[in-house]
Amino acid sequence: MIASDKVREVAERISIVDLIGEYVSLKRSGSNFTGLCPFHGEKTPSFNVNPAREIFHCFGCGAGGDVFAFVMRLEGISFPDAVRKLAQRAGVVIEERPLTADELRAKGERDEQRAILELAARHYRETLTRRPEGAPGRSYLQQREVDPETAAAYGLGYAPERRDTLVHALRGAGHSLDAAAVLGLVRNGERGNWYDLLHNRLIFPIRDSQGHPIAFAGRVLDSALPKYINSPESPLYRKSSVLFGLDLALREIRLASAAIVVEGYFDHLALYRAGVKNVVATCGTALTDGHITLLKKHGDRVYLLFDGDSAGRKATVRAMELCLEQKLPAYVITLPQGEDPDSFLQHQGAESFQQRIADAKPAFEQYLCWLLTKTPPDSVDRKVRLMDEIAPRYKRIADPVERDLYEKEICRLLGVDLSSFRKRLAGERAVPRPAGQQHAPATMAPPPPKPRDRAQESLLLLLTHYEGARDEARRNGLAEFLDQQHRPLAEALLAEADSQADPQTLWQRVFGRLDDPAHKELAARLLMADQHLAGMDDWRHAFDDCRQRLQQSGGIKELKQVVRQLGTMSSDHPDYQQLLVRANELRKQKSEIQ
Ligand SMILES: [Zn+2]
Repeated sequence: MIASDKVREVAERISIVDLIGEYVSLKRSGSNFTGLCPFHGEKTPSFNVNPAREIFHCFGCGAGGDVFAFVMRLEGISFPDAVRKLAQRAGVVIEERPLTADELRAKGERDEQRAILELAARHYRETLTRRPEGAPGRSYLQQREVDPETAAAYGLGYAPERRDTLVHALRGAGHSLDAAAVLGLVRNGERGNWYDLLHNRLIFPIRDSQGHPIAFAGRVLDSALPKYINSPESPLYRKSSVLFGLDLALREIRLASAAIVVEGYFDHLALYRAGVKNVVATCGTALTDGHITLLKKHGDRVYLLFDGDSAGRKATVRAMELCLEQKLPAYVITLPQGEDPDSFLQHQGAESFQQRIADAKPAFEQYLCWLLTKTPPDSVDRKVRLMDEIAPRYKRIADPVERDLYEKEICRLLGVDLSSFRKRLAGERAVPRPAGQQHAPATMAPPPPKPRDRAQESLLLLLTHYEGARDEARRNGLAEFLDQQHRPLAEALLAEADSQADPQTLWQRVFGRLDDPAHKELAARLLMADQHLAGMDDWRHAFDDCRQRLQQSGGIKELKQVVRQLGTMSSDHPDYQQLLVRANELRKQKSEIQ
């Protein structure tokens, strides 16, 4: 644990302009510095750094925050790691709070595991590159035309026929074999003899976003099964939140603002070798919510490139569903039948592949296309079945504009009218999200603020600048006016403010208090654009105005929802009457306010 005054000390000693200036060429523009955003591809600068407030904000993709947020995003590391890294740079000595006995033991175990993984990676790599018993691995790579540079980039290794070389290496370095067993590297046989679990296999180290090995995948050199053996999950390796190749791809994903997702290790390698580097692979598992969250952090769209067979299509549709829910635009790259990325690139080259990316269809469109090719809507029965198949997926589309467009498209393709489709939707039960799965806060490309958000933002700025507004907010309780995204900022402002605090120091304290990057982004955006409040002399008028707008928009929002629900419901539905009454109440409220 790092004490909060240390965090502040580090922040005070780092010049944000110097820090960011090492990655981005910055030019002064008024009170800010601007440059090309390192987090999304752009040609005209929309990335701003404000030295006085020690924050950055990109008007293009919404990235923003303080020095720590910058390092976290750039290097894909956690907040404590970002603090440690900048502390080193600033020459601040961080004394960690003494760990409890349990924490100490956990940390010891973790350190031992990391050391074992590093050693194993080196051992496999050396076997492949230098040792006589690595010969089969070397000739296999030659046969697959994997050049030494590519092999080195991945840290490829080889686990030889003999099943005791890693055991020896671990013993020689004094490591615990029990710890290595937890990581799935060695096993204790029935007669107490330890042996290596991976043998006769080409080794792909699976690494975290900073390039540290956290697990291994071993591939057979012939057609034996299983083709791959993967390390089991461990405290360092959670399949559902690790993407293979992210360490090699991070920079390119940011530059392209897009990631290509493939299924296999060799698919990944084939693309990398051909110069397509914004690629990640799932590690022998289906794409998960955790993966999507991870991808959203670094890019603003994904391209799915899975096998062309029916299992691949199923995986694509599942991935599409997750992307729709998290509002991450997804596209599907298709290859000619029988081709995988490796064979396609060898036959047709990288340029044809770029064309395939350019031709990629939005995932939902591709899904409809596959579905209707398989089952043409040529009878009433089929149309109904198709509607039932499409409805649950359609409901996952989180973006209202997209919903609207696809609704029309679905009706056109199926040859049914809008009201039939809506009735079918209403008859369908909504798809509940599995318990425990939470939407990650959107950290990329926010749409321009809606009127309701503008009112909430103005309110936050008033709280920043006026002690009176803060008193008023404390008295009235803010919670009812603000939504989940804005409320934590208001709460932090109220908690950190005292009568002495000028807006500047107040926000620095607030930054130290926020741990959700999405909240930091919002804070940075507000701070970049609060000049219009500087000359305001009547904060109360503005405050009341915001509050009224929020109350009103809350009502209008609900009214819209109710009207939409009524539109998809037949009048004999049990909830119909009740909703109708509520709609009339809300309409009345609205006319009273105006
Ligand atoms: Zn940006």
